Amino acid sequence: MTVQSEAIDTAALIRNSIAQNIPPEAKVTKVEFEGPIITIYAENPHVLLENNEIVKKIAREIKKRIVVRADPKARKPVEEAKKIISEIVPPEAEITDIFFDSSIGEVVIQAKKPGLVIGKGGQTLKKIAYETGWRAQVERTPPLKSLLLPQLLSFQGRESNYRVRFLRSIGRRIHRPILYKNQYVTITALGGFREVGRSAILIRTPESNILLDCGVKPGAQGVIDEFPMLDLEIDIEKLDAVVVTHAHLDHCGLVPLLFKYGYNGPVYTTKPTKTLMTLLQLDYLDVAKREGKPIPYGTREVKKQVLHTISLDYGEVTDVATDVRLTLHNAGHILGSAIVHLHIGDGLYNIVYTGDFKYAKTKLLEPAASSFPRVEALIIESTYGGAGDVMPSREETEQYFIDIVNKTLERGGKVLIPVLAVGRAQEIMLVLDEAIKSGKLPKIPIYVEGLLQEVTAIHTAYPEELARELRNKIFHADENPFLSDHFKQVDSKSARPDIVEGEPCVIMSTSGMLTGGPALEYFKLMASNPANSLVFVSYQIEGTLGRSLLKGVRQIPMEDARGRIEVIDVKMEIYNVDGFSGHSDRRQLLRFVGNMSPKPQVVIVNHGEESKSLSLASAIERYFHIETHIPRVGDRLRLK
Ligand SMILES: [Zn+2]
Ligand SMILES: [Zn+2]
Repeated sequence: MTVQSEAIDTAALIRNSIAQNIPPEAKVTKVEFEGPIITIYAENPHVLLENNEIVKKIAREIKKRIVVRADPKARKPVEEAKKIISEIVPPEAEITDIFFDSSIGEVVIQAKKPGLVIGKGGQTLKKIAYETGWRAQVERTPPLKSLLLPQLLSFQGRESNYRVRFLRSIGRRIHRPILYKNQYVTITALGGFREVGRSAILIRTPESNILLDCGVKPGAQGVIDEFPMLDLEIDIEKLDAVVVTHAHLDHCGLVPLLFKYGYNGPVYTTKPTKTLMTLLQLDYLDVAKREGKPIPYGTREVKKQVLHTISLDYGEVTDVATDVRLTLHNAGHILGSAIVHLHIGDGLYNIVYTGDFKYAKTKLLEPAASSFPRVEALIIESTYGGAGDVMPSREETEQYFIDIVNKTLERGGKVLIPVLAVGRAQEIMLVLDEAIKSGKLPKIPIYVEGLLQEVTAIHTAYPEELARELRNKIFHADENPFLSDHFKQVDSKSARPDIVEGEPCVIMSTSGMLTGGPALEYFKLMASNPANSLVFVSYQIEGTLGRSLLKGVRQIPMEDARGRIEVIDVKMEIYNVDGFSGHSDRRQLLRFVGNMSPKPQVVIVNHGEESKSLSLASAIERYFHIETHIPRVGDRLRLK
């Protein structure tokens, strides 16, 4: 490998551009890298706030995002700033909390109507910055109370000095000079290839190492196939970035483990994913502890991950290494889910990784994006990639589902729906709410237990990310479906037997594959009554109880409360309703490849049982004449 004789010094270019363009009266005191962002501290930030064009010109020249902050000397004291903010922001915005972060001079304003804090074209925010010297950020106070969101905000506030030090060290690393002349791009399959679960992909160039996802495999028999092959040619300390596509544990469950093994870098993902993955990882630890399973990491590592996460909006282009730019696009799978676009080596190579994605509209989300600035390689999931994996239409699916619920209620039974806490649960809540409101279902209580209430609250904190119609409903409290009074939160275990013996109802609970959680406890209570129904609405991974039941197993050995094994004779009706899936079916997968713009030159298939991955790959070759690969876990492929 040859070292480039004249290394390009990005940092020097940036400082030059700033020195040349900013008028001296702004009194710049320092220029810092804060992760991928360049921050300019000035004693007279007014000069830059009044003339937007100066900052825009620099941003164009150096192709970076720039933030202007007031030097500490130019900031009003906290109490005074608070008073000014409450005078500037109209009372209808309903501010619920204000956090000041003095290490960077930012203020986070939490309000029920964030739009009114922002003002037309950002006018109100600008005014706050102008009059207080504090740069304001706005967070939505969700209409449903979340426990986690305020905890996260105050934790981050307390740890702000650590966060700033971390961002600056990352910034220096991202903007270091490019060293090597040789160029190549490889991809290593660390997990989630020819299988579903433990998704992890390593992208490597001479300059950098990027890890896409790092998940666990639910239902795995032992540690060997539960975790990705992280020991394979991967030096965790030397990773430049970890990118997380979405909050499901098969994609993010082991990210905190990386910190335990010496990782000290950034985790890039969307804002909702940052919140949701923290919640699901903490729950994963709780469940493991309760069930006496080995715990791979602790809350310490989860907290470190929170401080190391850099959240990005869809479409925001960000430098994540000296030779790699990352952009996230909507994946339509669950709240915050993203398709990853990597632009490598200034035009050398472009990779799109779909993660889990839905190429169709659902009640919850808009369909996945399919057009990108450039693409050479596509890595695509194949959960429903088999020739027979064609889902019925949404209308048929909803009708079938509502019929099952009605039939069960008529014969005096109750309906149990095991759900993943994030995604299908909210989709099904929307379907049930609509059916009750339109009279297709009687007014029955829908019991939600486990993480569902918290996850639903988090959904109402990010309405901008949801499907258009739903977003509009959430903005009007009286129409917000998640606030409907037929949803009943179950707060205590002791309520379960009464619910199962009581009035007709629907019960929704985690875990989605009956591997544990309250759903499993309800299953034990309900399984022997033939009037009841068990309805699966999401994919059941091989090795889980959900999968066994779908295969027709009806004698299930289970541990009772005293730890004795008893065999449960399953008499309840069991249904599989595929059409609500957050994954693309075979037709949607092929339509996505066909509609993709521009066309990829090579397609790598992952996240599917072997037969499905093989089948999808051969269909892609046949229809689109694109070279395909179906690597095994452990394989490495040179792309360029
Ligand atoms: Zn997923
Ligand atoms: Zn997945």
